[in-house]
Amino acid sequence: MNSTTSLYGIFGNPVGHSLSPVMHNSAFSAVGYNGTYLAFKVIDIGTAVNGIRALGIKGVSVTIPHKVSVIDFLDDVDEQARRIGAVNTVINRDGVLKGYNSDGLGAVKALTEKTVVRDRDVVILGAGGSARAVGFGVISEGARVTIVNRTVEKGERLARELGAEFHPLSDIKKIDAPILINTTSVGMSPHANEIPVKEEMLDMGMVIMDIVYNPVKTRLLKTAEAMGCETIDGVAMLVYQGAFQFELWTGMKAPIDVMKKAVYGEL
Ligand code: NAP
Repeated sequence: MNSTTSLYGIFGNPVGHSLSPVMHNSAFSAVGYNGTYLAFKVIDIGTAVNGIRALGIKGVSVTIPHKVSVIDFLDDVDEQARRIGAVNTVINRDGVLKGYNSDGLGAVKALTEKTVVRDRDVVILGAGGSARAVGFGVISEGARVTIVNRTVEKGERLARELGAEFHPLSDIKKIDAPILINTTSVGMSPHANEIPVKEEMLDMGMVIMDIVYNPVKTRLLKTAEAMGCETIDGVAMLVYQGAFQFELWTGMKAPIDVMKKAVYGEL
């Protein structure tokens, strides 16, 4: 690091367990980019965004709980992020701050490297922030989506906004779809023995993606693998959404393998 090092970071709370610093710093050093990326525990997002302008921070990732509230403090928001209603990436172009959302793009890339989604049925478990991003992402790739969620009103609301169908969890067996994506936190450490759907809902030949990345092999993925399904872990989405950020910020091609290795190493 020297006096021309570009500063990047993540704004969230908590951020102590974020994998983004190790992922982005490994990428910067692999391509010889003079940048560094830090984790900032942010309580007041408005003040933190002013800090980007004041200090000339080149870009930030934004995570829970600021993905929605950050929008009010930016100069511009990309169309897809506006539709999702959340920003997870900010770039500072000569003092003009623009927000993007790379979660949907990351999920689509992780999915489409393993299977085709156009004109196919996709079940999304969950109706939270990431379900929104993943839903908009796969729909813009031409998939038909069904939302399945524990809280009916939340699931119905998201389905309406996406132009998708909704089914309560108890009805999941009635849905015939070759692709299922878990966007709930069920199965995440320290509750790694939990599974968001019963085993009998899965069929050989299905593609099962879990966006939970800690543990990398969730109980859902282990079960699906044992049944002969194609599986996609949460690290793929994490790395591809990070690769979008890296490319936006640096204008260089993201070293995907380096980023994956850094994240798997941490996990
Ligand atoms: P969120 O907005 O809080 O949404 C959580 C969702 O999980 C809701 O739909 C909630 O259902 C459901 N849920 C929680 N506990 C449940 C339970 N016991 N049974 C059934 N449903 C349950 O969270 P989020 O921001 O979308 O994040 C969800 C997960 O995705 C987290 O594990 C996060 O780490 C992971 N994630 C991964 C990536 C990646 O790049 N791989 C990116 C973002 C997030 P209700 O509506 O009924 O409460």
